[in-house]
Amino acid sequence: MIREHQHFFLAGEELPRLVEAVAAHGYRIAAHKLVDGNPVLSRIADAGDMPRGLVDARGPGTYEVRHAGGGAWFGITLGQDSWKRVLLPPDEELLAFSRQGKGFAVEPRSGQPGAPWAFVGMRPCDVAALARLDQVLLGGPYPDASYARRRPGLLVVAVECSAPGGTCFCAAAGAGPGLDDGYDLALNEVEGEGRHFFTVRPGSSRGREIIAGLDLGAASVEQAGLAREAVESARIAMAAKPGIAGLAPVLSAAHDHPHWQEVALRCLACGNCTMVCPTCFCHDLADSETLDGLHASRRRRWSSCFMEEFSYIHGGCIRSSVAARYRQWCSHKLAHWVKQFGVLGCVGCGRCVSFCPVGIDIAEEANAIANNPNLPGSNVGGTK
Ligand code: SF4
Ligand code: SF4
Repeated sequence: MIREHQHFFLAGEELPRLVEAVAAHGYRIAAHKLVDGNPVLSRIADAGDMPRGLVDARGPGTYEVRHAGGGAWFGITLGQDSWKRVLLPPDEELLAFSRQGKGFAVEPRSGQPGAPWAFVGMRPCDVAALARLDQVLLGGPYPDASYARRRPGLLVVAVECSAPGGTCFCAAAGAGPGLDDGYDLALNEVEGEGRHFFTVRPGSSRGREIIAGLDLGAASVEQAGLAREAVESARIAMAAKPGIAGLAPVLSAAHDHPHWQEVALRCLACGNCTMVCPTCFCHDLADSETLDGLHASRRRRWSSCFMEEFSYIHGGCIRSSVAARYRQWCSHKLAHWVKQFGVLGCVGCGRCVSFCPVGIDIAEEANAIANNPNLPGSNVGGTK
């Protein structure tokens, strides 16, 4: 009998068998695929679509895909896309209206599900981000109908991390580099020194069903140990990163701290950080109609708290300065989210740092305030 969290062995060249087994269970597979040299989360036909032997080199404001040699399937840790793109698309029609006599008919359009998705290659930070989105979009009395239609059938095939990127800080966020829960299958890829294999462990009944069809043998104690050591080395590699837990009280009390103004001198208010962030969910609604007045449409589009018009209510913007908008974003992730949900709103994926054109680092900025909490205040504008 297959037990949850039992470690199985899969040879490196046999990953396509696992992907085929997932597809055979009726899932559409999403994974990284190279598009113009960049890893983009896409629907794939089979494992042959996945990039191999590549790594992502990331720093503040920089991202590059490089050849690593070897045949690792999951050398690329993260791309700019997060998986929210599939479950909460950047642009989707929610409602369609059509005139009928003197009235009109309304047709809900959102989240027509099709076959469920399997996300292959999700990192622990992104698994944690999925749990954050679930809290916001499924928890409470008003679940998001579109997200709720796509989410339940999702199969998570996650990969624990052994080589964090230069901007990763999931360990400080308590969201990696290993996995405790939230997955159907958890993989560890061990590659190098003449070895290439996976350990695979099921975390749900659906994961166990897929494993059962593959007829895999148990991983040896040595193989499971090598996988664990690799995760531990990733944790050690991130040990020097600034912490972000426990900053909620100081950030909540730092409304008028002058450091927000200092960040605003660098921040372009471009909103890149919010677009790539796996836990950001802000959106806008846009209505349009045909010129003949017979049809209309309501669409949801991603938006950003960095856009001035995002805080436009009652004839004015409540966050008119860039400093107020940066403060809102950073405080929401690291302080207000904690108050509302009991967890950080940041999972330490580091995308916002790499894809910020000027390399602003949320953990460093928050710590700049935490380390100087009593500087004289200055009003940066806005109410929140
Ligand atoms: S705030 Fe930045 S590091 Fe944190 S989850 Fe969002 S993109 Fe990742
Ligand atoms: S922090 Fe960076 S990515 Fe975010 S809005 Fe400012 S400049 Fe753009």
